[in-house]
Amino acid sequence: MKFNLAYCLSLDAKLSIYDVRDLNFDETMAFDSAKEHFQCPNDACRLAFDVANELGTFNAKNVNYVRTPHFKNLPSTRHVEGCPYVSLKTLASGVEADEAETDDSREEHFPSELLLTRREYVRQPSSPAVASDTQNEPATPSTAHGVEPPSQDSTPDKTSVFAHPVECFVSNFDEKDLLKRMPLKIGEHTATYAAFFKKIEYLQDNKGLIYWGKIKQIKDYTQSFRIDFEKKVWFEKKPYSVNVYLSKKLIDTYRKRKAFLEEIKHAIESGRELYCFFYGVTPELKQVPSKKNPEQTFGVFSANIENLDHFIVREAPGVEGK
Ligand SMILES: [Zn+2]
Repeated sequence: MKFNLAYCLSLDAKLSIYDVRDLNFDETMAFDSAKEHFQCPNDACRLAFDVANELGTFNAKNVNYVRTPHFKNLPSTRHVEGCPYVSLKTLASGVEADEAETDDSREEHFPSELLLTRREYVRQPSSPAVASDTQNEPATPSTAHGVEPPSQDSTPDKTSVFAHPVECFVSNFDEKDLLKRMPLKIGEHTATYAAFFKKIEYLQDNKGLIYWGKIKQIKDYTQSFRIDFEKKVWFEKKPYSVNVYLSKKLIDTYRKRKAFLEEIKHAIESGRELYCFFYGVTPELKQVPSKKNPEQTFGVFSANIENLDHFIVREAPGVEGK
């Protein structure tokens, strides 16, 4: 059984696995999912057991993952009767079947909105007594008074992690009808997943979308990386190359700098087919000087990435050759 959310004890919040990944790689947060405690997101179920009743994670710390990350039951995980997260397989056999054999690797939980402001977390002061003491009583003052955390933080179908909608798109790529049906909102713009993800060669169709395409090469310059896309854009009956620049200054001040550099290094060295997804900028036609003959210029569609939170380089086996 895959879980789209789990309760994280130390943050007293329900997190998606993409939130967990974001926290793991965030160098400004002391967070390591291997040391955290994740529990059933069903409040009644969670409170019926002590803190040792945990869920496991899958692909929580792997920078370059291929299979869809998720939370899962461990062989020891227990749920109350009627909990929607009881694994049917566990019930039938008494043993959780190996997920590799049974779990569909698609991301089934489509966020309806990508929030452009990062989610913030407040770590709870550690007080182990509270957690094991309260069978029926909520553990924190905010919930004790019936005050829910701001809906932006707790609404499960919204996310501030770009990798989440990207994983929905990639892992469901052959489910065209599903992608044409599921809505996605970013900023003021709402469209279906199918419409929001725009192949890089069609970037002139509309501004402000998530553009994506296969990477031709990544160039490592002194002050930046340049990502060249394989496909070209046709403009006034002529083909133009497309690229995006990543400023090294931007990377150096990025809160997930190490993970990001690992992602780029892997991309340069792996020799695998890789895809780039980005949101926030739309490449535009620019004239740049020719290297061979600086007097001359040539046209290229180009953009500078402004926010690394909305930029991903990854393998995407599902979209290859399509
Ligand atoms: Zn449960």
